Amino acid sequence: AAKAAGKRQWRRFEPQQRVRMVERHDLKAQMDGAIARGEFALCYQPVVDIAAGDVVGFEALARWPHLPTGPVPPGQFIPLAEESGHISMLGAWVLHRATADIARLQRRIPLPAPPYLSVNVSARQWGDMSFLDEVCTALDAAGLVPGTLQLELTESVLMQRTDQIDEVIRELKEVGVRIAIDDFGTGYASLRYLRDFPIDVLKIDKTFIDGIPQDSQQVALVEAILRLADTLGLQVIAEGIEEQEQRELLADIGCRFGQGYLFARPMTVEEGELVLRQRARGSGGAPFPDTAA
Ligand code: C2E
Ligand code: MG
Ligand code: MG
Ligand code: MG
Repeated sequence: AAKAAGKRQWRRFEPQQRVRMVERHDLKAQMDGAIARGEFALCYQPVVDIAAGDVVGFEALARWPHLPTGPVPPGQFIPLAEESGHISMLGAWVLHRATADIARLQRRIPLPAPPYLSVNVSARQWGDMSFLDEVCTALDAAGLVPGTLQLELTESVLMQRTDQIDEVIRELKEVGVRIAIDDFGTGYASLRYLRDFPIDVLKIDKTFIDGIPQDSQQVALVEAILRLADTLGLQVIAEGIEEQEQRELLADIGCRFGQGYLFARPMTVEEGELVLRQRARGSGGAPFPDTAA
């Protein structure tokens, strides 16, 4: 640690870095107004039953489409929003918008198993005193059944756990909300956290899925995660499935659920409605002919 600290000396920024800093600063400065003016948007990526191809849920993913400099991906603006504190406001908006959208879909297309909604929640939001209230208010306002809401956290949240976060999660579980670990395998969640923490779902990170079926070590790792999940009674979702061979292998080794471009890209809520209508009509086989482009 001392060695690393010693390296972090004062030095001049490279021009490249300076541009990045200006961009970051500009983006942060524009966020307030963008949230107030409703310039953020949401898209929804279907979560599917890998073998059957049926849509079982949607993950809400934030978009910032109308910047003069072109769209910025959430991998960039979410960390900035976390740094600046805007994530609380943005996250509240995401919750309200997404619960309203999916509740409307559920009403318009009644299915025996209504599609669930999965929402990404930043470490910082989990620590907000008002977070629990916000979730309950959003559920109420939308009229969404709590059991059809899933909240995603990353392993870093498990590492930074406080009594308050534990309490929030306990109460959410009591209400019926499901908890998923996102990007599972990329962080430092220990087995103890998995055992002691009331988690329902593991989302296996895309980096593990990328290597299958060619890389036998990756395959073995995914199989080990599936066994672990089975032992602990957790559901598993494989992220970033792009190839038919990946789908087949995952189905073979008993991974039930997945997301990925092979099935569908993140789409508008209107496109999501079309996909659900197809499912309601029971057209199995190829569920995403047009929207997967
Ligand atoms: P994530 O939650 O792990 O979401 C999965 C990301 O993988 C999404 O990127 C999705 O579009 C992408 N993806 C899905 N299938 C495939 C595939 O087959 N191939 C490839 N290459 N990519 C695939 P996206 O939308 O750019 O989001 C990036 C990250 O930003 C998310 O990762 C999540 O951590 C964060 N994020 C997005 N929306 C929100 C939000 O509303 N709140 C918070 N806190 N974070 C968000
Ligand atoms: Mg996610
Ligand atoms: Mg992920
Ligand atoms: Mg991620």
